[in-house]
Amino acid sequence: MIKLLKPIAHCYGVINAIELAKKVANENKGKNIYVFGLLVHNEEVTKELDNYGIKTIDLTFLDPIEELNKFDKNDIVIFTAHGHPNKYEEILNKRGITYFDATCPRVKDCFNAIRSAKETIYIGKRNHPEANAALTMNDHVLFYDINDRFDYSLVKTDNPLVINQTTLSFLELQDIHQEIRKNIKNPNIIDEICNATLLRQKAINELGGEIDTVIIVGSKKSSNTMKLYEVAKSRHPDKNIYLLENIEQCKNMNIKYKNAVIASGTSTPMNTINQIKEYLEKQ
Ligand code: SF4
Repeated sequence: MIKLLKPIAHCYGVINAIELAKKVANENKGKNIYVFGLLVHNEEVTKELDNYGIKTIDLTFLDPIEELNKFDKNDIVIFTAHGHPNKYEEILNKRGITYFDATCPRVKDCFNAIRSAKETIYIGKRNHPEANAALTMNDHVLFYDINDRFDYSLVKTDNPLVINQTTLSFLELQDIHQEIRKNIKNPNIIDEICNATLLRQKAINELGGEIDTVIIVGSKKSSNTMKLYEVAKSRHPDKNIYLLENIEQCKNMNIKYKNAVIASGTSTPMNTINQIKEYLEKQ
Protein backbone atom coordinates (compact mmCIF):
# COMPACT_ATOMS: atom_id res chain seq x y z
CA MET A 1 0.00 0.00 0.00
CA ILE A 2 1.20 3.53 -0.76
CA LYS A 3 -0.24 6.59 0.95
CA LEU A 4 0.33 10.25 0.11
CA LEU A 5 1.44 12.23 3.15
CA LYS A 6 -0.43 15.54 3.22
CA PRO A 7 0.08 18.43 2.66
CA ILE A 8 1.71 17.45 -0.62
CA ALA A 9 2.86 19.09 -3.89
CA HIS A 10 2.89 22.87 -4.42
CA CYS A 11 2.33 25.30 -1.56
CA TYR A 12 0.43 28.55 -2.12
CA GLY A 13 3.68 30.54 -2.55
CA VAL A 14 4.77 28.29 -5.41
CA ILE A 15 1.29 28.28 -6.99
CA ASN A 16 1.21 32.11 -6.89
CA ALA A 17 4.70 32.39 -8.43
CA ILE A 18 3.88 30.04 -11.33
CA GLU A 19 0.53 31.75 -11.98
CA LEU A 20 2.19 35.18 -11.98
CA ALA A 21 4.88 34.04 -14.46
CA LYS A 22 2.27 32.58 -16.85
CA LYS A 23 0.04 35.66 -16.56
CA VAL A 24 3.00 37.93 -17.40
CA ALA A 25 3.83 35.74 -20.42
CA ASN A 26 0.20 35.75 -21.64
CA GLU A 27 -0.11 39.52 -21.33
CA ASN A 28 3.22 40.31 -22.98
CA LYS A 29 3.33 38.30 -26.18
CA GLY A 30 6.27 39.30 -28.38
CA LYS A 31 8.46 40.29 -25.42
CA ASN A 32 11.26 38.20 -23.91
CA ILE A 33 10.19 36.95 -20.49
CA TYR A 34 12.98 35.96 -18.10
CA VAL A 35 12.86 34.48 -14.61
CA PHE A 36 15.88 35.85 -12.75
CA GLY A 37 17.11 32.73 -10.91
CA LEU A 38 15.04 29.57 -10.44
CA LEU A 39 11.40 30.60 -9.92
CA VAL A 40 11.12 27.68 -7.49
CA HIS A 41 13.68 24.92 -6.91
CA ASN A 42 12.28 22.20 -9.15
CA GLU A 43 13.55 21.14 -12.58
CA GLU A 44 10.09 19.99 -13.77
CA VAL A 45 8.69 23.46 -13.06
CA THR A 46 11.61 25.08 -14.92
CA LYS A 47 10.84 22.83 -17.94
CA GLU A 48 7.13 23.70 -17.77
CA LEU A 49 7.97 27.43 -17.81
CA ASP A 50 10.37 26.90 -20.68
CA ASN A 51 7.60 25.21 -22.70
CA TYR A 52 5.48 28.27 -21.95
CA GLY A 53 8.16 30.49 -23.54
CA ILE A 54 9.48 31.76 -20.19
CA LYS A 55 13.27 31.56 -20.03
CA THR A 56 15.06 30.88 -16.75
CA ILE A 57 18.42 32.49 -16.01
CA ASP A 58 20.12 30.10 -13.59
CA LEU A 59 22.39 32.37 -11.56
CA THR A 60 24.37 29.58 -9.87
CA PHE A 61 27.61 30.45 -11.68
CA LEU A 62 26.76 33.96 -12.89
CA ASP A 63 27.28 37.45 -11.50
CA PRO A 64 23.70 38.76 -10.96
CA ILE A 65 24.69 42.42 -11.38
CA GLU A 66 26.32 41.75 -14.75
CA GLU A 67 23.22 39.81 -15.81
CA LEU A 68 20.87 42.63 -14.72
CA ASN A 69 22.85 45.05 -16.87
CA LYS A 70 22.35 42.89 -19.97
CA PHE A 71 18.54 43.31 -20.15
CA ASP A 72 17.04 45.67 -22.72
CA LYS A 73 13.68 47.41 -23.18
CA ASN A 74 12.06 44.42 -24.90
CA ASP A 75 12.77 42.18 -21.90
CA ILE A 76 10.56 41.54 -18.88
CA VAL A 77 12.11 40.21 -15.70
CA ILE A 78 10.37 38.11 -13.03
CA PHE A 79 12.00 37.83 -9.61
CA THR A 80 11.66 34.46 -7.89
CA ALA A 81 9.56 33.19 -4.96
CA HIS A 82 12.63 33.24 -2.67
CA GLY A 83 13.06 37.02 -2.70
CA HIS A 84 15.94 39.13 -4.05
CA PRO A 85 18.26 41.89 -2.81
CA ASN A 86 16.72 45.40 -2.93
CA LYS A 87 19.42 46.72 -5.22
CA TYR A 88 18.27 44.44 -8.07
CA GLU A 89 15.08 46.49 -8.41
CA GLU A 90 17.05 49.75 -8.18
CA ILE A 91 19.24 48.66 -11.12
CA LEU A 92 16.24 47.75 -13.28
CA ASN A 93 14.38 50.94 -12.31
CA LYS A 94 17.36 53.05 -13.38
CA ARG A 95 17.57 51.20 -16.69
CA GLY A 96 13.80 51.40 -17.35
CA ILE A 97 13.33 47.62 -17.49
CA THR A 98 9.90 46.21 -16.54
CA TYR A 99 9.91 43.61 -13.77
CA PHE A 100 7.47 41.60 -11.63
CA ASP A 101 8.02 40.22 -8.16
CA ALA A 102 6.99 36.62 -7.37
CA THR A 103 8.39 36.72 -3.81
CA CYS A 104 6.19 34.61 -1.50
CA PRO A 105 4.20 36.79 0.98
CA ARG A 106 5.54 34.63 3.82
CA VAL A 107 9.12 35.47 2.82
CA LYS A 108 8.19 39.17 2.53
CA ASP A 109 6.88 39.14 6.14
CA CYS A 110 10.25 37.87 7.31
CA PHE A 111 12.10 40.55 5.29
CA ASN A 112 9.84 43.28 6.75
CA ALA A 113 10.64 42.14 10.30
CA ILE A 114 14.37 42.39 9.51
CA ARG A 115 13.93 45.87 8.01
CA SER A 116 12.41 47.23 11.21
CA ALA A 117 14.82 45.57 13.69
CA LYS A 118 17.81 47.31 15.27
CA GLU A 119 19.94 44.18 15.04
CA THR A 120 19.10 40.77 13.56
CA ILE A 121 20.61 37.32 13.71
CA TYR A 122 19.42 35.58 10.56
CA ILE A 123 19.61 31.76 10.59
CA GLY A 124 19.88 30.21 7.16
CA LYS A 125 21.82 28.23 4.62
CA ARG A 126 24.80 29.91 2.96
CA ASN A 127 24.20 30.88 -0.68
CA HIS A 128 20.48 30.05 -0.62
CA PRO A 129 18.72 32.87 -2.55
CA GLU A 130 16.31 33.56 0.34
CA ALA A 131 19.23 33.95 2.77
CA ASN A 132 21.19 36.09 0.28
CA ALA A 133 18.22 38.44 -0.05
CA ALA A 134 17.45 38.54 3.70
CA LEU A 135 20.99 39.68 4.50
CA THR A 136 20.48 42.82 2.38
CA MET A 137 17.29 43.98 4.13
CA ASN A 138 19.14 45.97 6.78
CA ASP A 139 22.77 46.99 7.48
CA HIS A 140 22.63 45.31 10.90
CA VAL A 141 22.09 41.66 10.04
CA LEU A 142 24.43 38.94 11.33
CA PHE A 143 24.36 35.63 9.47
CA TYR A 144 24.04 32.40 11.45
CA ASP A 145 25.03 29.75 8.89
CA ILE A 146 23.40 26.43 9.91
CA ASN A 147 26.56 24.62 8.78
CA ASP A 148 29.03 26.76 10.70
CA ARG A 149 29.82 28.11 14.15
CA PHE A 150 28.32 31.49 15.02
CA ASP A 151 30.59 34.16 16.51
CA TYR A 152 28.61 35.64 19.43
CA SER A 153 31.19 38.38 19.99
CA LEU A 154 29.72 40.13 16.91
CA VAL A 155 26.34 40.72 18.63
CA LYS A 156 26.08 44.30 19.86
CA THR A 157 22.68 44.34 21.66
CA ASP A 158 21.06 42.23 24.43
CA ASN A 159 17.84 41.59 22.55
CA PRO A 160 18.50 41.13 18.82
CA LEU A 161 15.76 39.83 16.56
CA VAL A 162 16.47 36.16 15.80
CA ILE A 163 14.72 35.02 12.64
CA ASN A 164 15.28 32.30 10.08
CA GLN A 165 14.94 31.06 6.52
CA THR A 166 11.37 29.78 6.02
CA THR A 167 12.40 26.28 4.93
CA LEU A 168 14.69 25.06 7.74
CA SER A 169 14.00 21.91 9.74
CA PHE A 170 12.21 22.41 13.06
CA LEU A 171 14.60 19.91 14.67
CA GLU A 172 17.75 21.89 13.81
CA LEU A 173 16.05 25.19 14.61
CA GLN A 174 15.07 23.99 18.13
CA ASP A 175 18.73 23.22 18.89
CA ILE A 176 19.96 26.53 17.46
CA HIS A 177 17.39 28.53 19.47
CA GLN A 178 18.49 26.74 22.66
CA GLU A 179 22.12 27.60 21.95
CA ILE A 180 21.22 31.25 21.26
CA ARG A 181 19.27 31.51 24.55
CA LYS A 182 22.39 30.30 26.39
CA ASN A 183 24.59 32.92 24.75
CA ILE A 184 22.37 36.02 24.52
CA LYS A 185 20.55 37.63 27.44
CA ASN A 186 17.14 38.41 25.99
CA PRO A 187 16.84 37.44 22.31
CA ASN A 188 13.64 38.26 20.44
CA ILE A 189 13.18 34.87 18.77
CA ILE A 190 10.66 34.56 15.95
CA ASP A 191 10.25 31.11 14.42
CA GLU A 192 9.66 31.77 10.73
CA ILE A 193 9.50 28.17 9.49
CA CYS A 194 6.60 28.35 7.07
CA ASN A 195 3.59 26.16 7.87
CA ALA A 196 3.64 24.66 4.39
CA THR A 197 7.07 23.27 5.33
CA LEU A 198 6.48 22.60 9.02
CA LEU A 199 3.32 20.49 8.59
CA ARG A 200 5.18 18.19 6.17
CA GLN A 201 8.10 17.78 8.57
CA LYS A 202 5.75 17.02 11.47
CA ALA A 203 3.81 14.46 9.39
CA ILE A 204 7.09 12.66 8.66
CA ASN A 205 8.20 12.94 12.28
CA GLU A 206 5.01 11.26 13.50
CA LEU A 207 5.04 8.25 11.14
CA GLY A 208 4.26 5.01 12.94
CA GLY A 209 5.96 1.61 12.96
CA GLU A 210 3.56 0.18 10.32
CA ILE A 211 5.34 2.24 7.63
CA ASP A 212 8.50 0.59 6.30
CA THR A 213 9.33 2.94 3.41
CA VAL A 214 9.37 6.73 3.04
CA ILE A 215 9.74 8.27 -0.43
CA ILE A 216 10.48 11.99 -0.56
CA VAL A 217 9.86 13.53 -3.99
CA GLY A 218 11.58 16.79 -4.88
CA SER A 219 14.74 18.43 -6.14
CA LYS A 220 18.06 18.26 -4.28
CA LYS A 221 18.23 22.03 -4.84
CA SER A 222 15.04 22.50 -2.81
CA SER A 223 15.89 23.37 0.79
CA ASN A 224 12.53 22.22 2.21
CA THR A 225 12.73 18.90 0.30
CA MET A 226 16.18 18.23 1.75
CA LYS A 227 14.92 19.10 5.25
CA LEU A 228 12.12 16.52 4.87
CA TYR A 229 14.73 13.97 3.88
CA GLU A 230 16.90 14.89 6.90
CA VAL A 231 13.96 14.63 9.33
CA ALA A 232 13.00 11.24 7.86
CA LYS A 233 16.60 9.96 8.13
CA SER A 234 17.16 11.18 11.67
CA ARG A 235 13.74 10.13 13.11
CA HIS A 236 13.29 6.82 11.30
CA PRO A 237 16.61 4.97 11.01
CA ASP A 238 14.59 1.71 10.91
CA LYS A 239 12.76 2.64 7.67
CA ASN A 240 13.94 2.71 4.05
CA ILE A 241 14.17 6.36 3.01
CA TYR A 242 14.42 7.41 -0.65
CA LEU A 243 14.85 10.81 -2.26
CA LEU A 244 13.57 10.94 -5.85
CA GLU A 245 13.56 13.89 -8.23
CA ASN A 246 11.47 12.31 -11.00
CA ILE A 247 9.96 9.14 -12.46
CA GLU A 248 13.19 8.23 -14.33
CA GLN A 249 15.11 8.00 -11.04
CA CYS A 250 12.32 5.89 -9.59
CA LYS A 251 12.54 3.44 -12.51
CA ASN A 252 16.28 3.08 -11.94
CA MET A 253 15.81 2.06 -8.31
CA ASN A 254 14.53 -1.27 -7.20
CA ILE A 255 12.18 0.04 -4.51
CA LYS A 256 10.50 -2.73 -2.48
CA TYR A 257 7.89 -1.88 0.14
CA LYS A 258 4.97 -3.22 2.12
CA ASN A 259 3.58 0.04 3.49
CA ALA A 260 5.04 3.18 1.97
CA VAL A 261 4.31 6.88 2.19
CA ILE A 262 5.16 9.51 -0.40
CA ALA A 263 5.91 13.02 0.83
CA SER A 264 7.05 15.99 -1.22
CA GLY A 265 8.72 19.36 -1.04
CA THR A 266 6.62 22.46 -1.67
CA SER A 267 7.97 22.97 -5.20
CA THR A 268 7.22 19.42 -6.44
CA PRO A 269 4.42 19.20 -9.06
CA MET A 270 1.53 16.79 -8.33
CA ASN A 271 2.09 15.22 -11.72
CA THR A 272 5.56 13.95 -10.73
CA ILE A 273 4.17 12.50 -7.49
CA ASN A 274 1.32 10.71 -9.30
CA GLN A 275 3.69 9.23 -11.88
CA ILE A 276 5.88 7.77 -9.14
CA LYS A 277 2.92 6.44 -7.14
CA GLU A 278 1.33 4.80 -10.18
CA TYR A 279 4.62 3.23 -11.26
CA LEU A 280 5.32 1.77 -7.80
CA GLU A 281 1.76 0.45 -7.44
CA LYS A 282 2.11 -1.45 -10.72
CA GLN A 283 5.34 -3.15 -9.60
S1 SF4 B 1 7.36 27.03 1.41
FE1 SF4 B 1 6.29 28.64 2.51
S2 SF4 B 1 7.66 30.42 2.29
FE2 SF4 B 1 8.26 28.96 0.71
S3 SF4 B 1 7.08 29.53 -1.12
FE3 SF4 B 1 5.88 27.98 -0.01
S4 SF4 B 1 4.45 29.15 1.29
FE4 SF4 B 1 6.12 30.53 0.67
